[in-house]
Amino acid sequence: MAMRGLEFSHVTKRYSLGSSHVLALDEVNHHFQPGVTLLRGPSGSGKSTLLHLAGALDDPTQGQVLFHGHSLSSLSEKEKTQWRRTQVGFVFQDFHLLGQLNLMDNIAYPLHQRGRSAKDCRTRVTELLKQVGLMGYERRFPRELSGGERQRVAIARSLVACPKLLIADEPTANLDSKTGQSILDLLLTLLEQHSEMLLLVASHDQLVMDALGAQQVQLQDGRLLS
Ligand code: ADP
Repeated sequence: MAMRGLEFSHVTKRYSLGSSHVLALDEVNHHFQPGVTLLRGPSGSGKSTLLHLAGALDDPTQGQVLFHGHSLSSLSEKEKTQWRRTQVGFVFQDFHLLGQLNLMDNIAYPLHQRGRSAKDCRTRVTELLKQVGLMGYERRFPRELSGGERQRVAIARSLVACPKLLIADEPTANLDSKTGQSILDLLLTLLEQHSEMLLLVASHDQLVMDALGAQQVQLQDGRLLS
């Protein structure tokens, strides 16, 4: 049986900057188990790079990233896009909502891309808005929401395709502590409801460490400290 979870095997990531290089990840070896793992480390230590590789938004320079035993780098570009659309949800610190679309269309967007019927999309979005505590908000626009509400919408959108991997990059960074706490509570509730999901959260927010810190790894200068 294939190994469950997300496996980084001898992963190195080098960025070229003109004639010089930045070593963003240096021989990272780790097996992320289903459930939540908190990724810590100072700014510039490689957290976003690691998340990008986990979500197949980029390829390692060396080494392999495997999800449930399947190597992501052996996929074609088309397969990677498909994999992201169907298996991965992303939550960012600045929400990444589309300002000209109402919440129904923002959240349904990944389903439209997959060719799902309008009726299916409406049903799913209504259900998700309820789950994130925004029942009846379908026709609102992002500008009509608070920061915490926007992040709830972003979380609803990230879950729309029932991902097996949820990636959150500093999800509370732009929120006050009370709102940040409510977002963490929501993530924990969702995780209980989707026990097979693997949630990878990069943060250096103390609130996040207190709430989600059971399994954590620390990056420093591109190296993983255990
Ligand atoms: P963190 O998320 O922990 O702040 P990053 O993964 O963003 O760290 O960055 C790790 C290192 O790689 C930093 O030195 C950063 O400047 C560099 N880096 C990140 N992205 C790029 C890029 N696209 N091109 C060149 N260097 C990059």
